[in-house]
Amino acid sequence: MEPQRSPLLEVKGNVELKRPLAKAASRLPLSGRRLKRGPDQMEEALEPEKKRTRGLGTRVTTTHPRAAALSSAPQTQGQTAVPKAPRKPAPRCSTAVAPVLKTQKPGPVVPVQKPGTTAAPPMVGGKKPKRPAWDLKGQLCDLNAELKCYRERKQVLDQENQQLRDQLQEAQQQALALGAERKTLEEELTRVRAQAEQGQRELGNLSARVLELEERLGTQEGLVQELQKEQLRLQEERRGLAARLGEQERRLQTSEASLSDSQEEVASLRQEAAAREAILAEREDRLHGLEMERRRLHNQLQELKGNIRVFCRVRPVLPGESTPSPGFLQFPSGPCGPSDPPTRLSLSRSDERRGTLSGAPAGPTRHEFSFDRVFPPGSGQDEVFEEISMLVQSALDGYPVCIFAYGQTGSGKTFTMEGGPGGDPQMEGLIPRALRHLFSVAQELSGQGWTYSFVASYVEIYNETVRDLLATGTRKGQGGECEIRRAGPGSEELTVTNARYVPVSCEREVEALLHLARQNRAVARTAQNERSSRSHSVFQLQISGEHASRGLQCAAPLSLVDLAGSERLDPGLALGPGERERLRETQAINSSLSTLGLVIMALSNKESHVPYRNSKLTYLLQNSLGGSAKMLMFVNISPLEENVSESLNSLRFASKVNQCVIGTAQANKK
Ligand code: ADP
Ligand code: MG
Repeated sequence: MEPQRSPLLEVKGNVELKRPLAKAASRLPLSGRRLKRGPDQMEEALEPEKKRTRGLGTRVTTTHPRAAALSSAPQTQGQTAVPKAPRKPAPRCSTAVAPVLKTQKPGPVVPVQKPGTTAAPPMVGGKKPKRPAWDLKGQLCDLNAELKCYRERKQVLDQENQQLRDQLQEAQQQALALGAERKTLEEELTRVRAQAEQGQRELGNLSARVLELEERLGTQEGLVQELQKEQLRLQEERRGLAARLGEQERRLQTSEASLSDSQEEVASLRQEAAAREAILAEREDRLHGLEMERRRLHNQLQELKGNIRVFCRVRPVLPGESTPSPGFLQFPSGPCGPSDPPTRLSLSRSDERRGTLSGAPAGPTRHEFSFDRVFPPGSGQDEVFEEISMLVQSALDGYPVCIFAYGQTGSGKTFTMEGGPGGDPQMEGLIPRALRHLFSVAQELSGQGWTYSFVASYVEIYNETVRDLLATGTRKGQGGECEIRRAGPGSEELTVTNARYVPVSCEREVEALLHLARQNRAVARTAQNERSSRSHSVFQLQISGEHASRGLQCAAPLSLVDLAGSERLDPGLALGPGERERLRETQAINSSLSTLGLVIMALSNKESHVPYRNSKLTYLLQNSLGGSAKMLMFVNISPLEENVSESLNSLRFASKVNQCVIGTAQANKK
């Protein structure tokens, strides 16, 4: 199969094809050129004939004068050019002419050769010598020769003409063939041109495509350069990463080595920890046992000290007060000397009413009292608290604890319970110190698995009515009545209706509550009657503890009571309207205080009936007195001589309480 040639190659092929065309043109008959000769040349060729004809005086016409002239010219010329040596045809011409003349019309009159002459006159100066007119025979002979010559020449010319005709025919056939060939070539040329145009278009398209591709190539080259740069950068980065990887691998190996070391160490530590855990659990058990033992012993100690204990505290002489006479109050040392904490107090009173037989005034009488502990005027708040801290801690062990402050107004009960004015930490009373101690011990016990919660309430009982000292908002200071009720049917727990029970967990919260209670008391204060001294203030903290893992629970109230002034109304005073009111207050106070004494006595004597309900105070404190409860009474004494009578009363009441022994306390445990 022949491969398809491109249009460009085809064009070239066509160019090659033109060569035969040119050659074909050269194949045209050369005689044509002879035909195109000018008339002058023709004339020249015919000239000798004319001259001869003229010379003969006859007109000779030929059918193809030009062709005959052309083909016969050289011969004629030869004949004319060589007159001296006439050729053979010359005589034939002279014989051949005759018949032609016979058929021809006679021309104009010409001189006739005279008969009798046979030979033609000799040529003179290149011209045929004229025969004399009389030589008719000679002339006829010449004409015949000439005719013969013409006939021969005609024959030659006819042959030549025939040849030319043949040549012409051949040339025409060639022309036709060439025309056909030309047509074919033209068609081919058209086709080639079309192909060339097509090729040109395709070339244009290809050029555009080439341009486009070049453009794309440029873009691609740019991209390639960018990629090469990126590749270089990445190679650099890869080297960096490889270096880092190597470093990381080294570190990993190191880490793995240390990890395996650590794992071994961890395994050994775990074993050690397990062993320690076992020891710890054992120790925890032992600790718990010891804690329970401590509680038991602590309780025993408290019992040995007595479930009812009485501490006597004498306040210092305040600025502006008259200093008592020396020896008015004495604090005799214990059996172990001055290093022993004082437990005794002696008070001297000169009784003017008591006369002697001689009528002279009797000397001062010394009254001696002995308590669990006596705090002289110089004793600080911390010293006092230290003595009761163990008792307070009993509340965490589940024993109800109740601390009273008993004494006449101004003897220092509120100072002992709440503290002095001004917020001086050194002056802080038992309530804030007790709570701080409880929070701290509860925190310590949490390490042994105990969880404690504390809920505080603060009420006052005035004229046998209960009022909430923690009331806020609209109820603040209005003294809305509260009632003491059992927490629920069959429940031993008592609550005060309409009173706030506030959960506390830190000192700040307790401080805020004490501040609120002071504000509430200040609102109720009147000019004539300082109600706070005529009412009992009861701060109660409900303590709940739980040891979840051992399933232990304990709950107990801690009550801190600032009792109303124990002073009695002077019976000699006139009973005005204010005094009557004061008398009622005093009777209520005395009634509640004596009920408290009676309750303690009943508990001490293990009487079947304990008159708790005879006063609001004892009713409210029912769960903090007797049975499992531990009780502590502070008897606050004024150092002034003028208060000696009330001091003696207080001391006597406290002594009675101190003599009471209430049965073995039971921890309120579940
Ligand atoms: P009560 O509450 O018994 O009526 P207070 O506690 O109000 O008595 O005390 C009366 C005054 O004596 C207060 O000004 C108080 O600051 C002061 N006072 C009481 N006890 C002491 C003490 N131990 N040290 C210093 N001042 C005291
Ligand atoms: Mg007071």
